[in-house]
Amino acid sequence: MAEDDVPAEMSMVDRWGGWIMRRLDDGWCAALDRRTMLCTIYARRPSVCRDYQLGGSDCMQERATAGL
Ligand code: SF4
Repeated sequence: MAEDDVPAEMSMVDRWGGWIMRRLDDGWCAALDRRTMLCTIYARRPSVCRDYQLGGSDCMQERATAGL
């Protein structure tokens, strides 16, 4: 989103021209600390992440898929 201030090296343009978070080879977001599983750019995380409801149904489904 235009108001987002994500570090450029952690984002990329997808094949449809959308600006997205870069994923590393393991498939996880480039901003994710693999040891702590916390966001390393929490204060600058994109609005789509800010809108994601912690503990909501989507969150719980993703956690279950990841075996958490
Ligand atoms: S909150 Fe967003 S930017 Fe941060 S690690 Fe998760 S997906 Fe990446």
